[in-house]
Amino acid sequence: MHFEFSEDQKIFREAVREFLAKELQPLWDKIDEEHWIPTELIHKMGEQGLFAIPVPEEYGGQGGDFTSAAIAVEEIAYHDPSVAVAVFTLLNNAWPYILYLYGNEEVKSEILPLVGRGRGFFGIASTEPHGGSDVAGTRTRAVKKGDSYVVNGEKIFISGVREAMKQLELGSWYLITRTGPDEAKHKGISAFAFIGNKNGEVPEGFEYSILNTIGRHGISTGMLTFKDVEVPGKYLIGEENRGFYYAMEGFTLARILVAAANIGASRWALERMVEWARGRELFGGRPISSFQGVSFPIAEIAMELEAARLLVYEAAWMADRIYIKKEPGLKPKDLSFYSASAKLKAVKTGFKAFETLMVTYGANSYVKETNVARGFLGVLSYLVGAEGAQNIMRYIIAREVIGREYIKG
Ligand SMILES: Cc1cc2nc3c(=O)[nH]c(=O)nc-3n(C[C@H](O)[C@H](O)[C@H](O)COP(=O)(O)OP(=O)(O)OC[C@H]3O[C@@H](n4cnc5c(N)ncnc54)[C@H](O)[C@@H]3O)c2cc1C
Repeated sequence: MHFEFSEDQKIFREAVREFLAKELQPLWDKIDEEHWIPTELIHKMGEQGLFAIPVPEEYGGQGGDFTSAAIAVEEIAYHDPSVAVAVFTLLNNAWPYILYLYGNEEVKSEILPLVGRGRGFFGIASTEPHGGSDVAGTRTRAVKKGDSYVVNGEKIFISGVREAMKQLELGSWYLITRTGPDEAKHKGISAFAFIGNKNGEVPEGFEYSILNTIGRHGISTGMLTFKDVEVPGKYLIGEENRGFYYAMEGFTLARILVAAANIGASRWALERMVEWARGRELFGGRPISSFQGVSFPIAEIAMELEAARLLVYEAAWMADRIYIKKEPGLKPKDLSFYSASAKLKAVKTGFKAFETLMVTYGANSYVKETNVARGFLGVLSYLVGAEGAQNIMRYIIAREVIGREYIKG
């Protein structure tokens, strides 16, 4: 095991930090308060090269790698610990890469350059009202009719709905549907690059709504409803009934970036708790950091954050070896353990970091003005959902360590 940032990655990180300190940090709490990422900010982020980072330049991406995408997402979450802008960014890095790998050329050229420039959105529409963990149990159905497919069903808790439908020129998702019989389970799933909005044009029968979430307000979370929506056959991603496998690759890559968002937000939390513990004086002018009850939990967070960071960048480094450098002998499935471990650890760290921050702040954490709770509610979204629940990470790790045949129910 040997990984470190290249000179290019270090230069990229410095440029991203400088950009975000100017363009994002001053308005992150306003973004959360007003439930709105300014469209100009998304455009500027596109110009800065923060979307479709691993997608080759000839397809409208940045021609970078997953380590750089993780750096970008970590820095964004540090400068906006509500993680709204980080979520928008991570989706627009992981899922466009899957479209690049498996989509047809015409559809790639329609979607990817717009995403790369911050003019388009390409997210994931997998979760359904009956439960998100069981992707093989997808009920949204796509039935072939001539050269098209007719889609019926419902998706819920979908990130980026308002941004895709109202703010950008193009709004689209990796849409997971059932094309085979129910008994075929994961072997009867197909994926589409579904365009919900193109310059204000919305397909007939497609509707959306926005959910009233408790945090991470900057990016919307919504529902997508399909009533006999006709999707031209060219939008099928890869082969029919193979969509589950491509989706698993997408989730595996996206989890590394979810984990990166958690370490960025945790870094912000650690800095704030250190600052507060040093500055708050009690019992005759002693800084509260002089009480081990305050300093030891901070020490624990520093240690957990370092461990999580190593897992995140190890997973990103593995992704680069598999997808960017295409090292012989490595396969996409070799990433599963690393990506699930990074997400499991970083999400736990994020939640623990914000819990510790809130306890260190005391009652001051419970008012909006200190902004601490915005971060707490942001990382909470990753604990309860997002690119696979925590138990699903445990399942993946157990499967890799113990062996699939030994853990099947
Ligand atoms: C803010 C937010 C944004 C989201 N954005 C998106 C998005 O853009 N696109 C999208 O498709 N989805 C999105 N989701 C949904 C998210 O990915 C799901 O929450 C996740 O897949 C889990 O599904 P579920 O919430 O329906 O929980 P369920 O699948 O119902 O699971 C409930 C609980 O049971 C546990 N569980 C389930 N199965 C097992 C098992 N076999 N063994 C042990 N434990 C198990 C889970 O760990 C979980 O704790 C978002 C969620 C949130 C909160």
